[in-house]
Amino acid sequence: MKVAIIGGGISALATAFYLKKERPQWEVTVFEKEAQLGGKMKTVNQNGFLFEEGSNGFLSSKPDTLALVSESGCEALLMPSNDNARIRFIFKDALHRLPESPMAFLATPLLSWREKLRVAMEFFTPAQKEETDETLQSFGYRRVGKGMTDTFLDAMVAGIFASTPEKISVKAAFPAVVRLEKEYGGLFRGMLAKKKKEAGPGGILMSFAGGVSRFIEKLAEASGARIELEADIREIASEGSLWRIKSGDETLLFDKVVLATPAYESARYLRTIDPEAAALLDQIEYSPVSVVGLGYEHLSHDLLGFGLLTTTSAQQEILGVLWDSSIFTDRAPKGKKSVRVMIGGQRNAELALQEDAALIAMAKRGIMATMGVADEPTEIYVKRYEQGIPNYPVGHLAAMDKLFARIGTHHALYLNSNAYRGVGLNDCVANSKQCARSIVKQSEKAH
Ligand SMILES: Cc1cc2nc3c(=O)[nH]c(=O)nc-3n(C[C@H](O)[C@H](O)[C@H](O)COP(=O)(O)OP(=O)(O)OC[C@H]3O[C@@H](n4cnc5c(N)ncnc54)[C@H](O)[C@@H]3O)c2cc1C
Repeated sequence: MKVAIIGGGISALATAFYLKKERPQWEVTVFEKEAQLGGKMKTVNQNGFLFEEGSNGFLSSKPDTLALVSESGCEALLMPSNDNARIRFIFKDALHRLPESPMAFLATPLLSWREKLRVAMEFFTPAQKEETDETLQSFGYRRVGKGMTDTFLDAMVAGIFASTPEKISVKAAFPAVVRLEKEYGGLFRGMLAKKKKEAGPGGILMSFAGGVSRFIEKLAEASGARIELEADIREIASEGSLWRIKSGDETLLFDKVVLATPAYESARYLRTIDPEAAALLDQIEYSPVSVVGLGYEHLSHDLLGFGLLTTTSAQQEILGVLWDSSIFTDRAPKGKKSVRVMIGGQRNAELALQEDAALIAMAKRGIMATMGVADEPTEIYVKRYEQGIPNYPVGHLAAMDKLFARIGTHHALYLNSNAYRGVGLNDCVANSKQCARSIVKQSEKAH
């Protein structure tokens, strides 16, 4: 059995790993168009500073990525975040520590007394009966009020999706939160019930010694898949029960094809095979996002914490600053510090597309405005993604149901990437495992 996986990000590699685990005798080939694997998971070492271009880790509260790390023999690379990474900040009118306890919540100046009371009323707010797809803003206003939504949820969704509460579907982006209302009648009720059932520590942020690229390389090796870098996949077409792939000047035949490319690339391949599926893929939009990594010889800030996120109301150019060298010890040479500044997303898309010099200036202005620091960095690294993070608007999940129903009509053709049902690494890994499982299951049915 020959399987082609197009793309070389975590979705492709995790799918390859789980396929080979289930069926070691299958020949699996990963075709990545760049010279390096990883997609949005790449680490750059610049004079001893490790700058992550995209993802810097995953939460250990969901089992999927942790399981993949251990199954692929990468446990020795695992690096938990430092304890002080649990201290987080929100910049609204000024920098405030994110409250971590009910007492701290009562004391926080981030919300007025009225707004705090409204949050407490969530306990008594009846659950919505009918199942709707609504924005995070509509859900938040309904359950915890405007103050909490415009401050906490706004900052959180900027941090996770580079989005804003009015542009994102709560059901697509935070299905677990929606389930709390549906199954337990409310968020507090649900969290209390779950706490009783699942006594144990919450998740902590995990990464890899040397950066995420180390994990990507090891995972690719452990998968046992053949890896083709700088691949030029020009066309995919069905040929009887097989798939014909034009790779450069070669024509190759495969039994199964997985498109683990971004939605707009998968659309390109499907345009003639299935115009309706291609149209659904074309509708998935991506927001631009830029990352400015700054390394400092001397920085007059203790960076005690994970970093900060800004609220929309703060009217800052930056989405937030990750205090990288405080989160993971090996991100800067001993005695030096580093941060990464996030710019753009759905909140300020046009800002992310500016020239490097403008992005660097924005990052420095943002650091000055939020942290009060004007020190000059000695290292600078800029990564600009024109199509960085897929948007999950209201209606996304229904469109995905339609898309996957169409894809299911094609023999041995599969779609898997962060564009469909989850952006975080944990989601990508869980979906990849699921994708590998359904490929194996369908091949069993066929025989
Ligand atoms: C700035 C940023 C920060 C993030 N931070 C976090 C975080 O801290 N935690 C977290 O959980 N998630 C984070 N994410 C999200 C997470 O990194 C991504 O969702 C995930 O890595 C996507 O993996 P993927 O394989 O689905 O897609 P991608 O990583 O986009 O991989 C797609 C691959 O396909 C290749 N490709 C494209 N076209 C072709 C073609 N025609 N032929 C062959 N190959 C092709 C690309 O080169 C790429 O390697 C972040 C994302 C960004 C952008």
